[in-house]
Amino acid sequence: MKTTFDLKAKRPLIISGPCSAETEEQTLETCRQLAATGLVDVLRAGIWKPRTKPGSFEGVGLKGLAWLAAAKAETGLPTAVEVATTKHVEAALEFGVDILWIGARTTVSPFSVQEIADALKGTNTPVLVKNPMNPDIDLWAGAVVRLQNAGLDNVGLIHRGFSYFGHSQYRNSPMWHLVIEMRSRFPELTMICDPSHICGNRTYLQEVSQTAADLRFDGLIVESHICPDKAWSDASQQLVPDDLAKLVRGVNWRQDTTNDPEFVNALNNLRQQIDQIDSELFDLLSRRMRVAEKIGEIKRDNNVAILQGGRWNSIVDKVVTQARELNLSEEFLKTVLEAIHIESISRQNSIMNR
Ligand code: PEP
Ligand code: MN
Repeated sequence: MKTTFDLKAKRPLIISGPCSAETEEQTLETCRQLAATGLVDVLRAGIWKPRTKPGSFEGVGLKGLAWLAAAKAETGLPTAVEVATTKHVEAALEFGVDILWIGARTTVSPFSVQEIADALKGTNTPVLVKNPMNPDIDLWAGAVVRLQNAGLDNVGLIHRGFSYFGHSQYRNSPMWHLVIEMRSRFPELTMICDPSHICGNRTYLQEVSQTAADLRFDGLIVESHICPDKAWSDASQQLVPDDLAKLVRGVNWRQDTTNDPEFVNALNNLRQQIDQIDSELFDLLSRRMRVAEKIGEIKRDNNVAILQGGRWNSIVDKVVTQARELNLSEEFLKTVLEAIHIESISRQNSIMNR
């Protein structure tokens, strides 16, 4: 069997290239400049683009594969493209693409993922699976298992953030806790972060990349373009190759841990404090729920609805003021409060409708 690129061969694994291959010149020049930085391990380019609105630029198709093959021949760097159908897989392999990735809009579809897995059977091609658009890690895990069941053992993960209802500074919310859960389900898989699609702009790329490094991700996939402002897709998030190099150099890939006794002692001590505080927190939460149940009883006895107008808003307002005083972020406290509120309502619900 042809030797294939090992996703675990290097940490951090750095993948970069344009969101889309647009022209031969743009593809080759971007790849040349990336290779010249000496910091990029794999070149990426979108060839077929799944776009939200029909009629927007949907990728250059086959000719882009030829440009990418030329970039590979010139730079010596392996290449990666997104595939969504059997035809894409066949074309990519025919043009010598080294790594395939499954995009977020494809991971959501078990039929499409199965089709890709079937098309790859017997090849052992490395495949990176992006998280699905929606925050559903069972769906993400299912896609991985479909590929593994097809005999592919060189599978990795890409975290690109999740669609999110509400306001966020990000285009796609990172929801890091979901990714930590995915990691614990598949500890053996390479996990790389795609800060470009999380951020949707250049502002937060550095800090998101650093967070990924600190959560022990194995690398980054970042979009770059010789002239980002003129890009045909994702213009506001791409970096010129020089800035890509600055970003990569600026990330501190800290050591996993250390055996230094002073560190180990201090860490154990702080962890004990955390465990103690957690147990006090849970104690308080349990007391709070017992009070909520009593409220449920008096509402039931007086035949009064669970949700009382104004009460929830006044709790939130109070907490927001408190958050500022306690140096806790408003977003964090609201999330905690919402979780507590949902549980309170469900307790009252079961008391009232028992
Ligand atoms: C891409 O990588 O260009 C892309 C389309 O990403 P995603 O599938 O994460 O939206
Ligand atoms: Mn893109």
